[in-house]
Amino acid sequence: MSLSGWGGYPKTKAKAIFFRDTGELTRQVSEASSFIARGMGRSYGDSSLNNSCVLSTNRYNRFLEFDSEAGIVKCESGVTLAEVIDISINLGWFLKVTPGTKFVSIGGAIASDVHGKNHHLDGSFSSCVNSFSLLVPSGEVVNCSRSENADIFFASFGGMGLTGVILEVEFQLIQVESAYISQTSIKAANLKEAMAAFENAKETTYSVAWIDCLANGDALGRSLVMAGEHASINQLSTNIKATPLIVKPKPTLSVPFYLPSWLLNKLTVKAFNQLYYYKGKAGEGQLVDYDSFFYPLDSIHHWNRIYGRKGFVQYQCVLPLANSYEGLKSILELISASGQGSFLAVLKLFGKQEGYLSFPMEGYTLALDFPLNSRLFSLLEKLDSVVSQYDGRIYLTKDARMNSRFFAKSYEKQLNRFLDVKKKLDPDNKLRSLQSERLGL
Ligand SMILES: Cc1cc2nc3c(=O)[nH]c(=O)nc-3n(C[C@H](O)[C@H](O)[C@H](O)COP(=O)(O)OP(=O)(O)OC[C@H]3O[C@@H](n4cnc5c(N)ncnc54)[C@H](O)[C@@H]3O)c2cc1C
Repeated sequence: MSLSGWGGYPKTKAKAIFFRDTGELTRQVSEASSFIARGMGRSYGDSSLNNSCVLSTNRYNRFLEFDSEAGIVKCESGVTLAEVIDISINLGWFLKVTPGTKFVSIGGAIASDVHGKNHHLDGSFSSCVNSFSLLVPSGEVVNCSRSENADIFFASFGGMGLTGVILEVEFQLIQVESAYISQTSIKAANLKEAMAAFENAKETTYSVAWIDCLANGDALGRSLVMAGEHASINQLSTNIKATPLIVKPKPTLSVPFYLPSWLLNKLTVKAFNQLYYYKGKAGEGQLVDYDSFFYPLDSIHHWNRIYGRKGFVQYQCVLPLANSYEGLKSILELISASGQGSFLAVLKLFGKQEGYLSFPMEGYTLALDFPLNSRLFSLLEKLDSVVSQYDGRIYLTKDARMNSRFFAKSYEKQLNRFLDVKKKLDPDNKLRSLQSERLGL
């Protein structure tokens, strides 16, 4: 079947196996010459693609246990974050770490070691996982935790499926009093103000900024910064106090077909960005339900189709704290000058991170979406040079085109440790994705 990541670039054809249990999976793995696991296909580029065989966890998605006293879930790796929230929020439990979409699988969340708006305080997805089992190419199932096969446990976080197929996972949820977030919004006139707003919100659990990346001059980096905490019962308005853990379902929109790619041009992106900035309301104590706060894009199904059939590329980099301001300024200047604006540009603050190929490092991360066109890759190469110059790196789960030299340099500190584990588990290099082949992983 034809497959791509969320960005629609690149596309490939592969045999897709939808297994339901480990017996079926083991048979497929023994027959395949090479393979890679795939969850919900929400990684943007080619990390869940392989020209030969893709093992989909979409039907490997049963809940095995839910301890509603302790907030511990055990499930198969194809269960999605949306399904976890569906069974847990009404009982006062929520995800400790969540990315900006809930339509990702638990296996995908581990393989990318996803981060949320609280990385500066709570770390990445690895921080909530107690243990998992992993099917490795020999057909053996290995149990992994901080005390058992710890090297395989840590290498699998951010390991992009290259250590094996994650099977059953046990993870911890956090207790919440309500399904709402108390949000403070700040309008920042430029990048300096935006970074100062993050600094002021350092002790607040969640923070994120939307950046107008076409603004320039004194307004370069102007942003809407949002900070939030889970709302306690007494912060709720009277009408929702009676049912604090229930959020009324909202109507969802859908983009029914691919829009023509000419629709997204400098003018439409500029107009959208200006509207977003000027419409945004600064203020404190705004009550927002968890869906609107964490997953605004999930309310429009297939929103990726607005970029047209050619697709788009997301570019997400992180820069060390000391270099963040200068590096981000250079990146925004390059983008603004190129006129290739991003509809969505998101800035977040990361805290310290230990790991093998996990993406975060202490500093700022910027994520940008660009429609695919003939001028795009030369712009992205210029951005790579800036990221490299300031000792940053690019997020593998968003990548579709980085070159192997830049990858090896930017992940050099952890790469050999990761490759040692991979070689031990997969001596014949059967676990492969288009991305791992491109990057020489
Ligand atoms: C709108 C949107 C917002 C996002 N926001 C964020 C964000 O804020 N923070 C963030 O960190 N990420 C974010 N992402 C990226 C997303 O969280 C990751 O790409 C995630 O890994 C996708 O999970 P998936 O189930 O779709 O995995 P896929 O895209 O199918 O696969 C991703 C990787 O996981 C591996 N994999 C999947 N399942 C398994 C398994 N069972 N065993 C072994 N390997 C497996 C695949 O081989 C591949 O390498 C966002 C994506 C979208 C579309």
